[in-house]
Amino acid sequence: MIFDRIFKLKKTLEPTTNVLQIGSRAVPLLMVHHPRARRYLLRLRPDGTVRVTIPRRGNISAARDFASRNIDWLEQQFHHLTIRPRIPATWNLGEEVYFRGELVRIEPDTDGSIRFGTERLEVYDTQGDLRPAIQKHMRALASEELPLRVMELASHHGINVSRVSVRNQKSRWGSCSRRGTVSLNWRLMQAPGFVRDYIILHELAHRRQMNHSKKFWQEVERLFPDYLQAERWLKQHSNLLR
Ligand SMILES: [Zn+2]
Repeated sequence: MIFDRIFKLKKTLEPTTNVLQIGSRAVPLLMVHHPRARRYLLRLRPDGTVRVTIPRRGNISAARDFASRNIDWLEQQFHHLTIRPRIPATWNLGEEVYFRGELVRIEPDTDGSIRFGTERLEVYDTQGDLRPAIQKHMRALASEELPLRVMELASHHGINVSRVSVRNQKSRWGSCSRRGTVSLNWRLMQAPGFVRDYIILHELAHRRQMNHSKKFWQEVERLFPDYLQAERWLKQHSNLLR
């Protein structure tokens, strides 16, 4: 008898899974009792499940109603989830990576080689994580292409640069030192050409203004009138830096 009661009590506190229809999508709805919650709470988790927290005196049917009433909000959250593609920690065959601003698929080629976009490279093991090999390849491309582009744009605008270095940075796309060294992130190979040019011109503008003052941004705008569009792309793809 006592066991029965404990069992029942436990059962009501366990999360309940249900399905919620959002547009054409059937979404798993996880309902979790939380004795300290003061009201119903709704959250879209990164894995695409919707979680509803049920407060102390709440119940499952009210939780369902709560989720249904907030369908519009959930739909909006889903939209955000899809426009910001999640970058997988490992890169495997069949997955897509950004290359020159486009998502390209990593595909097998002959003799233990792989292809992505216009590139082909040999790898040790096509079944393992391909990220280190692909990154090394992109970094080599960056070391060839980025310094040339810096010199081209610098001479076009009459700005002098003493050195260009291509680096592996996790928090910034580029930088410029007082001595005139422009450092660029190899990940610019993942960005479209106009974004790459914007970063280069942004760093070149620092040769004239070593700050982010109003004058600096006027200089950026003079060198690259569409800079806001490039800034927007960078903001939407900031996860490429991680
Ligand atoms: Zn800057």
